[in-house]
Amino acid sequence: MEFDTITAISTPMGEGAIAIVRLSGSEAISIADQIFRSPGNKNLSSQVSHTIHYGHLIEPESGEVVEEVMLSLMKGPKTFTREDVVEINCHGGIITVNRVLQLVLRHGARLAEPGEFTKRAFLNGRIDLSQAEAVMDLIRAKTDRAMNVALGQMDGKLSRLIASLRQALLETLAQVEVNIDYPEYDDVEEMTLPMIIEKSSWVKQEIEGLLRTSSQGKILREGLSTVIIGRPNVGKSSLLNSLVQENKAIVTDVAGTTRDIIEEYVNVRGVPLKLVDTAGIRETEDIVERIGVERSRQVLKQADLILLVLNHSDELTPEDVRLFEAIEGMDFIVVINKTDLEKKIDSQHVEELAGNRKIVTTSLLQEEGVDQLEEAIASLFFEGSLESGDLTYVSNARHIALLHQAKQTIEDAIDAAHAAVPIDMIQIDVTRTWEILGEITGDTVEESLIDQLFSQFCLGK
Ligand code: GDP
Ligand code: ZN
Repeated sequence: MEFDTITAISTPMGEGAIAIVRLSGSEAISIADQIFRSPGNKNLSSQVSHTIHYGHLIEPESGEVVEEVMLSLMKGPKTFTREDVVEINCHGGIITVNRVLQLVLRHGARLAEPGEFTKRAFLNGRIDLSQAEAVMDLIRAKTDRAMNVALGQMDGKLSRLIASLRQALLETLAQVEVNIDYPEYDDVEEMTLPMIIEKSSWVKQEIEGLLRTSSQGKILREGLSTVIIGRPNVGKSSLLNSLVQENKAIVTDVAGTTRDIIEEYVNVRGVPLKLVDTAGIRETEDIVERIGVERSRQVLKQADLILLVLNHSDELTPEDVRLFEAIEGMDFIVVINKTDLEKKIDSQHVEELAGNRKIVTTSLLQEEGVDQLEEAIASLFFEGSLESGDLTYVSNARHIALLHQAKQTIEDAIDAAHAAVPIDMIQIDVTRTWEILGEITGDTVEESLIDQLFSQFCLGK
């Protein structure tokens, strides 16, 4: 395919030593030739691909020097977009970079839309859709682990697995065709149904395996939604602050004054925690507080993890017990705070209420116990399983939804085969599964969806 030439600043905006303005398209090299002068006045289009050239950018009309640059010349198809690509490395700084961008735009390039470079890589067959989505995840990855998942996907791990499933379905369909074409052979049908059941069951198993990784994958991608609850003044905001290690949440001496819900991301041993601080969840007559409490209850339901904070220097109150009741059946860790003060809490009662959940003691004032809490959080969710790098994770909500659909249609096919319904009915379910899986890699996907997906990308990618 041939497209016009696009350009964008490909490095993050702001102060950096070096910035890159990238061009991609059939005119990329000729545009660069117009505005670039090397000491030997060489012509870029006659240079060897994948080489770097030193020189100056100039205004061709006036001959005025705009910037001293290093220019990378990469001729298609061995480039990210499979088109001719020129990367202009210039000095960082918003003004300089913008001058370079403006110069490029005035000489025939068009400003790229968000994600347009990656979209071209997809449209030119360089990467498939799940790989393109991985590029987006990579940009947004919050921890190294999340990044490794995205890298694996970008490398085509998920694509290869999906391709093998689709291949198996295709083979099944081929066998079904034989059966339909030669209905007179009874033994063909006898062979076909068990074959459909066997292949389809394998596909179903693999899909289920992928779906099992999705909750961890989703957590790695979006963060483990964590809510800190407890009576007023037990140290919720202090805990949030200790975890964030930046004083973004409001810490206060007045009971119940943290009314707004504040979200913070922290990296706890490779697990991205999305921390939500809530006003104390309790019955109250105060209307302003009630808004906080209502919202707190909603947030609770959506949480992956609850940190329930208790006060070591207070006796357990009916409110504490109610909080335990409110989070029954959820994943929670009990944090007994203020161990620097005289003990009044009944540890045995806490253990009874906690059941098999972990209990950690802290003195946030003296910065003690936070390490143990982090350990407890990390081990709760990622005991062993995430360490093995070879699992293929699904983390993308679109992929997860499609896998659920594919699981349903392949189950329908298996059920139908068991019930020995006419084979062309089974064929429909198998074909549908093949199509749905193809949507993950973009083999069977609508153009409007593609536009929508790529528009979520950052500019310059
Ligand atoms: P919240 O209302 O649950 O958010 O509690 P805060 O985090 O605002 O803390 C209430 C008060 O308890 C503040 O004055 C904190 O400095 C204090 N505090 C927090 N943690 C500890 C601790 O471990 N020991 C002591 N002695 N005071 C603490
Ligand atoms: Zn607070």
